[in-house]
Amino acid sequence: MNKKITRLLKSYFVDYIGFADLRSHQDELTEYGGDIVKGYDSGISIGIAIPDSIADHLPRRSDVNVSCEYRIHGYEVLNQRLNLIASFLSSYLNQKGFRSLPIAAADRTDEENAMPTVSHKTIAHIAGLGWIGKNCLLITKEHGPRVRFISILTNAPLKTADNPPAQQCHDCEECIKACPVKAIKGKNFVLGENREARLDFLKCQNYFKQMEKDREYAVCGMCLYSCPHGKKP
Ligand code: SF4
Ligand code: SF4
Repeated sequence: MNKKITRLLKSYFVDYIGFADLRSHQDELTEYGGDIVKGYDSGISIGIAIPDSIADHLPRRSDVNVSCEYRIHGYEVLNQRLNLIASFLSSYLNQKGFRSLPIAAADRTDEENAMPTVSHKTIAHIAGLGWIGKNCLLITKEHGPRVRFISILTNAPLKTADNPPAQQCHDCEECIKACPVKAIKGKNFVLGENREARLDFLKCQNYFKQMEKDREYAVCGMCLYSCPHGKKP
């Protein structure tokens, strides 16, 4: 089943595919997702890399050409592609007789905490695709945090990843220094710990609200741009 799913997903030019064993993570899943996400043994994590030709320009995001490219092709279109791919894969699994639930990419169902139904980054981490950095983003080996993710929950029989990769932020503080509103607290990720321990989300959110008043496209991403992982020399 893993091979069939991988072959199918590769035809959509995705960059990351991982399989997470969620049996011991039901409490984290249901914290924001509630009953609809209960009872799935596995999660399939899918990622598409943000083009460097867009992310490399983020320090000049006050230029409308840069912010437009990042907002549309670095964010919205990638999330639309991920949603469609998750929908196709979910239909495939259903036709094979398995339960599956595609989780919307980037949509917040808990506005107060800015959380989606489930954390795509946590599932990607459990699926072995990377570690969660001090910037609260999933850091992959090849593209660092420059990747958008989606998840599908399922009961299909899958071979899942053994252990999530250990964090490798060590003494680095690049994202902390780059954040214009000092929202990143500098703490390493601990599975199950609330995001608030690592990120002052309100500072980040208020910064975006302010930008929305002043600019056509509110864009930051400096925590993504500044990470040495995934940054090409
Ligand atoms: S998006 Fe910008 S403001 Fe928000 S945490 Fe990242 S660097 Fe800070
Ligand atoms: S910039 Fe440094 S501290 Fe921040 S996530 Fe990347 S490696 Fe970790």
